[in-house]
Amino acid sequence: MTPRAPRIAIYPGSFDPVTVGHEDIARRSLRLADEVIVAVAHTSTQSKRPIFEVGERLELLREVFADEPRIRCVSFRGLLVDFALGCGAAMIVRGLRAVSDFEYEFQMAQMNRELMEPLETVFLTPDLGYSFLSASLVREVAALGGDVSAFVPPPVLAPLLERTRPGSAPVE
Ligand code: ADP
Repeated sequence: MTPRAPRIAIYPGSFDPVTVGHEDIARRSLRLADEVIVAVAHTSTQSKRPIFEVGERLELLREVFADEPRIRCVSFRGLLVDFALGCGAAMIVRGLRAVSDFEYEFQMAQMNRELMEPLETVFLTPDLGYSFLSASLVREVAALGGDVSAFVPPPVLAPLLERTRPGSAPVE
């Protein structure tokens, strides 16, 4: 019997910064795929003011998943479907927190199917405790001095506090 090719999943996002919700989804994806590529988009479709540069986000992601050889963290430019095809990926993974995520995610999934038929989008729900969590909310709470230690993986906490300290310059 010829061995089957490894099943690769792409988990794309802005990860500014990676939260425990993102981490949960990436690790759950390993139940569906042999290898998961966490892919930081250089150009986000949702315009947000970033607090970490793409390279910094990537460094943090690599620290968070340093224990897991089946998770690789990279960044990409351009169309996600082109990048996914180049990686030999069979699926795109997205997290669904609540109904509010659905409309945007459904639209994206349908568009990506139009662009690249064989690529499937798979939606995973996080642990219930993370279903309220978003990177933007974490950024906001941190900037207002709230305790975000339960919402980000340990390597992210100090850089996040440093970056959101009053008076620290935002990245362009
Ligand atoms: P955010 O929405 O937190 O700003 P991204 O744009 O980086 O983050 O999102 C990347 C993917 O991760 C999206 O599919 C998003 O729905 C998902 N995601 C983000 N936070 C969570 C969470 N707490 N639980 C499950 N999925 C999540």
